[in-house]
Amino acid sequence: MKYSVVGTAGHVDHGKTALIKALTGIDTDRLKEEKERGISIELGFAYLDLPSGIRVGIVDVPGHERFIKNMLAGVGGIDLVLLVVAADEGVMPQTREHLDIINLLGIRQGIVVISKIDLVDEQWVEMVKEEITNCLKGTSLANAPIIPASALTGEGLQELVATLDRMVQEVPHRDTEGPARLPVDRVFSVTGFGTVLTGTLLSGHIRVGDVLEIMPGRVMTRLRTIQVHKQKVNEAYAGQRVAVNVPGVEIDQVRRGDVLITPGSLPVTRRLDARLMLLSSADRPLKNRARVRFHLGAAEIMARVVLLDLEELMPGNSAYAQMQLEAETVAAYGDAFIIRSYSPTRTIGGGKILQPSAPRHKRFRPEVIATLATLEGGTPLQLVEDYLARVGNLVAIDEIPQAMGWHLDKVKEIARELAGSGRARTLTVDGREHYVAGKVWDTWQARMREVVGRYHREYPLREGFPREELRSRYFGDLNAKTFNTVLALLANEGVIELRANVVALPGHKAKPTPEQKVIIDKVVEAYRASGLQPPSWESVIQTLGLEGASLGELQNFLLRTGQLVKVNEELFFHPDNIERARRLLKEAFEHTDAITVGEAREIWQTSRKYAVPLLEFFDSQRITRRVGDKRVLVKN
Ligand code: GDP
Ligand code: MG
Repeated sequence: MKYSVVGTAGHVDHGKTALIKALTGIDTDRLKEEKERGISIELGFAYLDLPSGIRVGIVDVPGHERFIKNMLAGVGGIDLVLLVVAADEGVMPQTREHLDIINLLGIRQGIVVISKIDLVDEQWVEMVKEEITNCLKGTSLANAPIIPASALTGEGLQELVATLDRMVQEVPHRDTEGPARLPVDRVFSVTGFGTVLTGTLLSGHIRVGDVLEIMPGRVMTRLRTIQVHKQKVNEAYAGQRVAVNVPGVEIDQVRRGDVLITPGSLPVTRRLDARLMLLSSADRPLKNRARVRFHLGAAEIMARVVLLDLEELMPGNSAYAQMQLEAETVAAYGDAFIIRSYSPTRTIGGGKILQPSAPRHKRFRPEVIATLATLEGGTPLQLVEDYLARVGNLVAIDEIPQAMGWHLDKVKEIARELAGSGRARTLTVDGREHYVAGKVWDTWQARMREVVGRYHREYPLREGFPREELRSRYFGDLNAKTFNTVLALLANEGVIELRANVVALPGHKAKPTPEQKVIIDKVVEAYRASGLQPPSWESVIQTLGLEGASLGELQNFLLRTGQLVKVNEELFFHPDNIERARRLLKEAFEHTDAITVGEAREIWQTSRKYAVPLLEFFDSQRITRRVGDKRVLVKN
């Protein structure tokens, strides 16, 4: 099924409204003031059933220069434009201004109607045709058909309908699956019914009962009824003109220019980066920080233009620019916008949004320009890659579409392709698919090698870098859970090895320096020689004349590597001596079932001070078991 919206454009009084009436029978000049003054101020709406069966919505816009704002509101979502030029007057100022707007908005489908041909002769029509052809050169309508017609006599209308029917079928399909986006071009209240909003659904589809968010005011609302061309429907699709009833929303909570969206699907922004074009018809260069009227969809917002790569923008040229808005709006990548001078109010340019929500930039920054260049000319793959690189961290897959203004399925496809070719890495955190740019991953790998390697050199006796310390000192952007996932992937890639609570380089072994080795030998020998009456650690250190901070380090190393055995917090034994004590104990149990502390003292030829801790140690080793004040052998 195909839905399309056609919009009119052209100078005031050139016969747009009369043409729509002749085509549809609907008079779009609804307002009393319009009737009285004979000009269209507000947008008018009609629809037309084409011979092929397609029903197109029609937005009839005002042509008067004072109402360009309204024209812009109406022309935003259209698929095809009817540019009307009266035969008796030819191309006029608002013909040109509307054409500029059509061109800047990138509307490529259009038909030019030479209207009121009943007022002139054929030769005259030919001259007007020539004038129009010249005017269209270099614009998005350069190849548009030009059809002479008269609303009065009906001449040319059949050809117009046939051409329209053919062209509407060539209009590219809109995405009806993605998030819904409905720029509001009219707000009114119906007695006993509440607030009604109208607009052209730009993307997605809406259903009765759907919850949408009115932006930028963040008002949540549930759609009670939906109308398409005055008929109640349960569902409406991108490309249709719709009127929705939003109960509970007061009329002053919503205005033309607001946008109804699937909650959370577009960023609220006051700063956006763009390619900005200044019309060659602009009467002066655009200065940095110029204050302009920024038009996006049906919204008009005052804004400053920060030129990012030029001192000033000359007519006919374009630049990268940041639009700094004086009020919030929602925007998507690729949206077209228009700027008009503050006073006098005239269309001076427009462009395409490259970053819908951007940080403040310093001007003339090569890295900023490079990013914008990728955003402008890059493939979807490059765009997602660049976005991931800019975030510089893991990004959940469903957070990317909001930044890019794309459909989630498309983003998934792209992200997976990036991961497949090594340009991104994918990780699952909390059951959600995450991505990180390959470049970012490379810096994480390098940082990991560097800091863990340095740690090994600094603490040769340690097994590795304690995880939590490593995270908080060098990977503070990652929470503990994410960090563990990152570590697992790095280990999988062979960058590191995970051991208990520490991180080491692959194959790393704690190894003393030659100086440490000398000390170790002396300490171990002192313990070995002291048999079952070992000295305290402090006295060993003192006797050997060793002093210094790394002694705790040394102690940990000796205990961890089994060169000393910890019997309790204060008592260490040489392993050979522990082994001898165990053997003597076992031998004693060959002659008796139970041994007291006093007997153990005898067996080991040591004092109570050592015998008690040793027995407790063997208890903990499940060699002996305490029964009353005696020890028995554990049978196994
Ligand atoms: P709009 O401002 O472009 O919408 O122009 P309108 O449709 O309101 O028409 C402006 C005036 O031109 C009205 O007085 C119409 O009656 C007149 N007009 C419109 N179309 C024709 C036409 O085909 N032939 C003649 N003779 N007059 C027309
Ligand atoms: Mg009109």
